[in-house]
This record gives sequence, C-alpha cells and structure tokens, in this order.
Amino acid sequence: MNTPPSGTTECVIVINCGSSSLKFAVFPVTGESVLVKGLAERLGSPEAVLKIERDGETISIQIPSATHHDALQAAVGRMSSLNPRGVGHRMVHGGEEFTGSVVIDDNVMAAVERCSSLAPLHNPANLVGVRTARELFPELPQVAVFDTAFHQTLPRKAFLYAIPYSYYEELKVRRYGFHGTSHHFVSLETARLLGKQPEQTSLITMHLGNGGSACAIQNGHSVDSTMGLTPSEGLVMGTRSGDVDPALHQFLQDQTGMRLSEITAMLNSQSGLLGISGLSNDMRTLAEAARNGHERAALAIEVFCYRLAKSVCGLVAALDTIDAFVFTGGIGENSADVRARTAAHLKILGVDLDENRNACHGRNDGGWISSDRSRVPCLVVPTNEELMIARETLRLIY
Ligand code: ADP
Repeated sequence: MNTPPSGTTECVIVINCGSSSLKFAVFPVTGESVLVKGLAERLGSPEAVLKIERDGETISIQIPSATHHDALQAAVGRMSSLNPRGVGHRMVHGGEEFTGSVVIDDNVMAAVERCSSLAPLHNPANLVGVRTARELFPELPQVAVFDTAFHQTLPRKAFLYAIPYSYYEELKVRRYGFHGTSHHFVSLETARLLGKQPEQTSLITMHLGNGGSACAIQNGHSVDSTMGLTPSEGLVMGTRSGDVDPALHQFLQDQTGMRLSEITAMLNSQSGLLGISGLSNDMRTLAEAARNGHERAALAIEVFCYRLAKSVCGLVAALDTIDAFVFTGGIGENSADVRARTAAHLKILGVDLDENRNACHGRNDGGWISSDRSRVPCLVVPTNEELMIARETLRLIY
C-alpha cells in the first residue's frame, strides 16, 4: 500500500447497490465509527437525490437523472479529507460458489453473474455497484461480502428440499439462507457480551427488519436458517408472506386466473404484515394502529410473533445446546411488544423476559432482556452490516 497524502484519513468505503439506489458508508481503517454515510435514491429518474450524513449534519443534493456512477462520484467529491484504501460490497447471492468474502477479480465477477439466476433482482444491481466503484477507483482493491456465505455451513439435511434430488444437482435448487452478514455480526457481538469465544457459542438469532430471518448457530457456525432458495421463505415479513403451502400457486391460478408471475409478486410485495393488516408493512404504524383499536393491525402483529416463535422452536432442533436467543434488526431492536409476544410463545423453552429490561431494549443491562429466572438468556444486539463488511474488507486487503 502507498503512503497516504498527509492530512487525510485512511478509510474503507462500503457499498450496498440496488437497482435504483446506492447506499454507502465510510469507516476509518483504524476505528469502527462511521465517518460519512449516505444514500442515493431514484437513480435514473428526474427525482434522483443524494443524501449525505457527516458530523451529525445531513445534506440533500438533487442529482436529476444521475446514474449510479454519477451518484458515487458526487458523494466521493465531498470526501476530500478521506483517503479510501479499499471498497467493500454487499452481495446478495453467492450460491454455492462463495463460502466467505473474497477480493473481487474478473473470475469473481463471472461467478456472481452465474448466481444471478438465483437472485435476479439483486445480483445484477450489486454488480453495477462493483463496476461503478472499479471505474472510480481502479487502483483500489474491491471486496465482495455475501449474504449467503455465512450459511454455507448448513448441513445437507438442513439445506435440501424434499423434491427430486436432480433439481439440486442440475439447478442448485436448495435452501441458501440470507442476512448472513447480520447474523454473523450479531453472533460475534453476542459471544462478546456472553464472555465466550464465538466458536463456543450456540445461538438462535432473529433478524427482524423489513425482511426477516432467524438462524440457528452452533459453535459459531450457521446450521439452519428460515430463508431458503430465495429470501421469500420463512418468517412473516413486511410485505412477504414467508412460508405458504406449495399448492397455493396452483390453487390461486385455478380460482382467479392469475399468472404465476402475478402470484409471486403478490406473495413478495402485497403480503406479510401489509397483506394481513391491509394497512401498512411498517411495524411502527401497525403498533400505533393496534393501540387505537385497528383489529387487523393487531392480528398482523399476532401472526408475525406466533410464526416467529414457531420457526424458532423448529430451529432449536438444529442445536445441541443454546446460550441465548437474540433479537436484532429494526423491529427486533426497537419493539418491546414484538419481543414480549414472541417470548410468551417460547415459555415451554424456559424463556422469561424481564419487563423493565425489555422496555429499555436491554440498553442498561448489556443487551440482556431476560429475567434472572429465564432458563435461556434473551438479548437485544443491534446489527451493523456495514461495519461487518468494512471489517471483512480490511481483513482481506491488509
Ligand atoms: P431494513 O430491513 O429495510 O434494513 P430495518 O431493519 O430498518 O429495515 O427495520 C424496519 C422495520 O423496523 C419497520 O417495520 C419499522 O417499523 C420497524 N421499527 C423501527 N423502529 C421501531 C420501533 N420503535 N417500534 C417498532 N418497530 C420499529
């Protein structure tokens, strides 16, 4: 590595690129607090906008019709005192090709493209982020951090669907699991809070954001996930149904004449909390509505918590022992009500929350929200996927 120009801070840029958005965060090489972060949205449209947060201030810049390249260039233009040493990219699907993070070269790009059929909405967008960063920083190493990689330790009994084996052999149809970067980060933080080594820690982690998944982690390794071939399987989510009867598609097609693509879109974007409540996919909105007597908002929350607890009970089968149940993600970190309702269904496993600790999201108790009577500790551990990607990038480039 070259010596940086004086007066600049060596840093790592983390990029999470969607089809019309680009999120970024900048971390110092020698610390873990974010220096700058930002989001460019509605790229390619006349309303494209770039928001940058630095030193507690947010600025908003209109960038009409900007491409991903324009947006990243505009953001970098405002980072004059920073000296980037590497770029880390969030990649959604690494299939069976990637069991960990990698420095990106042309072979990696080709392999990610091969996995695109498994994540047609995400992988091509992630690759746009890589190409953009390569154009702007041709001299910098770029690192790919995959949502699926942490789950490549799933045993066959957990990842195979009970369909003819040839679909796995020929098309790689299997369960992959997602949110791996978050589950991994949270498992490391939890081990630290428990005063244990990660490889001696067995957990159930619940990442509950707009999407959601739970993960069984045995001795630091993912051994099962609620998500499958795609991020649609498993828990009830903001707009995704999670598990449904595999015969549902045929039934709806026969009854309504809907096309397969329409049914898939309905299950992905009009279902989950939004579908049941008929009101919103946002847990805050639903909690408020439920308090004001909106019955289906209350029902949506009830189904969400019950299905989560039921999945957690299933995941327990993957573990020999359990050190903690861990909540994370926007809902997991902030909704005492969702945690209390979920925990109430887990009493049979000896789970008992402390009302005050839970109401404070564990912030005064080292993450702990369970009572001293609880047979298994329960914790709230905030996730930080960007930081995990920055750590992985640094690990690979130095
Ligand atoms: P994403 O998956 O897009 O990163 P987040 O992890 O930010 O999403 O989670 C978003 C969800 O978290 C939304 O349903 C939002 O309502 C919920 N949430 C955030 N804060 C609270 C809160 N104080 N109480 C309940 N839910 C919350």
